[in-house]
Amino acid sequence: MESALTARDRVGVQDFVLLENFTSEAAFIENLRKRFKENLIYTYIGSVLVSVNPYKDLEIYTKNHMERYRGVNFYEVSPHIYAVADNAYRSMRTERKDQCILISGESGAGKTEASKKILQYYAITCPASEHVQTIKDRLLQSNPVLEAFGNAKTLRNDNSSRFGKYMDIQFDFKGAPVGGHIINYLLEKSRVVHQNHGERNFHIFYQIIEGGEEDLLRHLGLERNTQQYQYLVKGNCPKVSSINDRSDWKVVRKALTVIGFSDDEVEELLNIIASVLHLGNVQYSEEEGNACITSDIQIKYLARLLGVNGTALTEALTHKKIIAKGEELVSPLNLEQASSARDALSKAVYGRTFTWLVNKINTSPLPLCIRSADVCVCVCYSFEQFCINYCNEKLQQLFIELTLKSEQEEYEAEGITWEPVQYFNNKIICDLVEEKFKGIISILDEECLRPGDASDFTFLEKLENTVGGHPHFVTHKLADGKTRKIMGREEFRLLHYAGDVNYNVNGFLDKNNDLLFRNLKEVMCMSENKILTQCFDREELSDKKRPDTAATQFKASLAKLMEILMSKEPSYVRCIKPNDSKQAARFDEVLIRHQVKYLGLMENLRVRRAGFAYRRRYEVFLQRYKSLCPDTWPNWQGKLADGVSTLVKHLGYKPEEYKLGRSKIFIRFPKTLFATEDALEN
Ligand code: ATP
Ligand code: MG
Repeated sequence: MESALTARDRVGVQDFVLLENFTSEAAFIENLRKRFKENLIYTYIGSVLVSVNPYKDLEIYTKNHMERYRGVNFYEVSPHIYAVADNAYRSMRTERKDQCILISGESGAGKTEASKKILQYYAITCPASEHVQTIKDRLLQSNPVLEAFGNAKTLRNDNSSRFGKYMDIQFDFKGAPVGGHIINYLLEKSRVVHQNHGERNFHIFYQIIEGGEEDLLRHLGLERNTQQYQYLVKGNCPKVSSINDRSDWKVVRKALTVIGFSDDEVEELLNIIASVLHLGNVQYSEEEGNACITSDIQIKYLARLLGVNGTALTEALTHKKIIAKGEELVSPLNLEQASSARDALSKAVYGRTFTWLVNKINTSPLPLCIRSADVCVCVCYSFEQFCINYCNEKLQQLFIELTLKSEQEEYEAEGITWEPVQYFNNKIICDLVEEKFKGIISILDEECLRPGDASDFTFLEKLENTVGGHPHFVTHKLADGKTRKIMGREEFRLLHYAGDVNYNVNGFLDKNNDLLFRNLKEVMCMSENKILTQCFDREELSDKKRPDTAATQFKASLAKLMEILMSKEPSYVRCIKPNDSKQAARFDEVLIRHQVKYLGLMENLRVRRAGFAYRRRYEVFLQRYKSLCPDTWPNWQGKLADGVSTLVKHLGYKPEEYKLGRSKIFIRFPKTLFATEDALEN
């Protein structure tokens, strides 16, 4: 048999705290590499799970595997996402405290897959109650629906989530799942009207066209050719080899029924999706500077599918109406304005329908729950990316705070003196973004509200004047009035915790304003489509107050989320993407090193290792090693602490190598533990 030592050489350590050289990034990466090579994609840092996307199906998600992780101690079996899921579940039940599982990582790292594995684990292993099968089905079936409407093929991931997602699973007092609740935020709406080269629109559009029955397509007025639709041709990427739109459609259609959509609702939903495609095909010409629509065929479809008045819609797609001092002013739009009004309508219709869909999937929340957060990452370094990076910055802050806090609390509970740790606090960057009056979001809002010549450029100028001296903010302007050559005039750079990112200010004002002309809103409010009447509320029209800007809404929902997360017991899954080519068995060291830094893993390890590498409850420690000492074998009769003390003295532990707390032994160096493990083998 292979000895423990050579096994460690080959497959590395299953917990990074056991690395001898724990401050070395090289040793960290080497350990990841060894394990990845052996298909061991999971490794712990204490209780944090690090996962490397294998890009191939591993035989580690069977029912047998689920059984193996049920109710066992975190550390006694090899690291697994099921162990994290099981641990959260048991803590919830025994400590009666809400849990959350926070999953992070860059696009394609495996967050969505991880969250699905957790869901499957609960659906299969948790006890059943009377109506639980339907609940379990609904939970599981909500995934394909959410992915159809919220995921798209990007350059980095064929199934990229284009929205952030927080999901609760609620359990009753017997531990059976009884419901789920999803909060979505910041869908990447711009994708509805534009895709970068090599990327696609949301899956659902292709699914309907490729998979929809003849009758359905006829009813929707669609042709079975995605390339007929302006909103689907921009990325020049109609087909993806890893995706079968036709069979996916069947899955989605069935899932809609399982999660409780009536046939009428499905019809209205599909009417909306089809109408977005028709909207995209509305073409304009310009006469004397005024836009007019060149053919009415789309308008006919739109009027029918959206249940609106065609004439009113035509008018609203070519004119704008403002109410000033109680008077209505109608003025014609030019071609460019009309096109962007049309696109704004498409984005609003799709975005709001998506929110409606998520709310419809939700069942009412109950007190105890496990929450999983899957944080999405966008590609373009634009406004959306700015929001996402801000979100990551906040999550990092929370992570460091909570890790430190829980370490400190454990030391306190065990009566062991705390040894302070130095770490980088990224609050300064969060403040730069979110501080009232002088943070970037405040400045952006100010420009959005300012009438007159406000533009993306005046926003950038204002930034330079207000936060120009901030240590984490850079533009092309140097303090001495000269310019930095490497940066564009339209850019600013933020020195994020995870690294430097350049943002192009183009579109910041528009996207933050997220305005829809009043007359378009009016038309939509009159819609006979029941989903749309819920999405476009008449109160919006009477409301004098300006709606909050996108960034401010986002900031508020993040603040709410942080509050929720702070009140739960967190577990973390940190996902790493091994290469940029979606290939199995390719370990791109540069890319991985970047993620290790960006996820703050070394910092995390340092905090976890600051005092003691290893800690175990007395009974667990004694159970495992009692055979090494004649006094504790076969059974120790006295107090557990005394048993452990007798055992380690017999093993020759030196006083500086360990400490005994109230219920746990703390071991400072991995080598002490390894020696003990090896003794067990021999
Ligand atoms: P995004 O931020 O773009 O949504 P993500 O982190 O959610 O990305 P996933 O969609 O979960 O990434 O994973 C991307 C792809 O990687 C999956 O479609 C799948 O092919 C593969 N993958 C991820 N995790 C696993 C796994 N545990 N086993 C096998 N394949 C996986
Ligand atoms: Mg995802």
